[in-house]
Amino acid sequence: MSSAKVFVITGPSGVGKGTLIRGLLERIPELELSVSATTRAARPGERDGVDYHFLTQDEFERRVAAGDFVEHAAYSGNRYGTLRSELERRLDVGVPVVLEIEVQGARQVRETVPDAVAVFISPPSRDALRVRLVGRGTDAAEEVDERLRTADRELESHHEFGHVVVNDRLEQATEELAAIVRGVLG
Ligand code: ADP
Ligand code: 5GP
Repeated sequence: MSSAKVFVITGPSGVGKGTLIRGLLERIPELELSVSATTRAARPGERDGVDYHFLTQDEFERRVAAGDFVEHAAYSGNRYGTLRSELERRLDVGVPVVLEIEVQGARQVRETVPDAVAVFISPPSRDALRVRLVGRGTDAAEEVDERLRTADRELESHHEFGHVVVNDRLEQATEELAAIVRGVLG
């Protein structure tokens, strides 16, 4: 891979990673978001190849065995992973890439892409995280509870990552994230 940069945005589900990344891509248009693969069912409105590459369990397993993933993890009963091709086709032409992934995957990227820049997004409080997960309206109550249980573990790992941004006021957090990225890209 070339020396173009990889930015890993991690943190618990519902903290606002996707929302912050939308603001980041508006501010820094040269960045591109890697489209992950997952075995979870598409939510209403999600498009294959745009929001995710939606794979069956068998297809995901086949691609793991083929070495197609830079990282992959099990999360809330489904599998998620970053396809090597998503990274390489951008890095090869010098385009910096953003990954939006959970904590286990972010740890793997730290090993496989040591110069990747990782940013952990924290909620202002656990209550705020619950409010956001419920308010997003994409997950059933049981799924929200499962994601919050996972979040409790994930929040303990914030110190493992190079940068931490607290997503309290969206505008301010987006600016903080953009400042980190600009600082790296120069
Ligand atoms: P993630 O990608 O981390 O799962 P999302 O970007 O989907 O999280 O955000 C979860 C919900 O929280 C969304 O409904 C989003 O509009 C809302 N949200 C994001 N950032 C903030 C913020 N700073 N303050 C209040 N609500 C927010
Ligand atoms: P969701 O089901 O809400 O789209 O995603 C659930 C969790 O999986 C989120 O924390 C999201 O960041 C993470 N995720 C999305 N894509 C990937 C990926 O390619 N790899 C890993 N490890 N996690 C991912």
